[in-house]
Amino acid sequence: MTGKVYLIGAGPGDPDLLTMKAHRLLTAADVVLYDRLVGEQIIAMIPETAEKLYVGKAKSLHSLPQEEINALLAVKAKEGKVVVRLKGGDPFIFGRGGEELEELVMEGVPFEVVPGVTAAAGCAAYAGIPLTHRDYAQSVRFLTGHLKDGTTELPWDELVHPAQTLVVYMGLTGLESISQSLIRFGMRPSMPVAVVEKGTSKDQRVLTSTIKDIHQVVLDNEVKSPALLIIGDVVTLQDKLSWFGQ
Ligand code: SAH
Repeated sequence: MTGKVYLIGAGPGDPDLLTMKAHRLLTAADVVLYDRLVGEQIIAMIPETAEKLYVGKAKSLHSLPQEEINALLAVKAKEGKVVVRLKGGDPFIFGRGGEELEELVMEGVPFEVVPGVTAAAGCAAYAGIPLTHRDYAQSVRFLTGHLKDGTTELPWDELVHPAQTLVVYMGLTGLESISQSLIRFGMRPSMPVAVVEKGTSKDQRVLTSTIKDIHQVVLDNEVKSPALLIIGDVVTLQDKLSWFGQ
């Protein structure tokens, strides 16, 4: 009999942010395929009897190409196994979860999706930056700074609307060009920006600056991936509302 694939969001790092459903399924898994962004303490919850497969991500040396990950999920499930596909954050937000499920549908393999705390929600909460606030932002937009073809062409004119918070995933590499484009399309150079490095983990760092200077701040402080950018006036609340690690 065919098993089942559970596509599970592991959250941004802090194991306490795992949902109860994710935890229950993880501890009952026969096979777990996980990537780079899943926190170490969460990996440690995988039962010893389960087969653990690190499938990495595109930039890693030991990574499997996406097509092979997709195929492997189906193969393992067809062996009758309970397969957990564990991803950082939420599987449907910049997580390629959709691509993996499309393959399962084609192969006739049953699946379930378990949402996770996405980096935007986790990092904002642990940095003390409400992504919306009646005084500062009525909408929030999640973007990727890294497109499939390696460019960062985004709908800049829509991104400079007032009272909107921007959250940029994978934005470190393209940061200089992103900041320049936003300013060119009318964002004021003094717009507050936060960079959250390794959000929700004990190594979390939050650096704040302006859209004009954030690139230099990131260089000076040697910020490394994973890091999330939060752009907007809500960032000014961080001074007052930060709580984590204090
Ligand atoms: N599915 C994930 C996102 C995967 S894309 C989610 O929902 O969160 C990977 C990007 O997410 C990273 O480049 C970084 O921008 C962001 N990210 C993920 N975890 C993070 C963390 N703990 N701290 C800061 N940024 C994080």
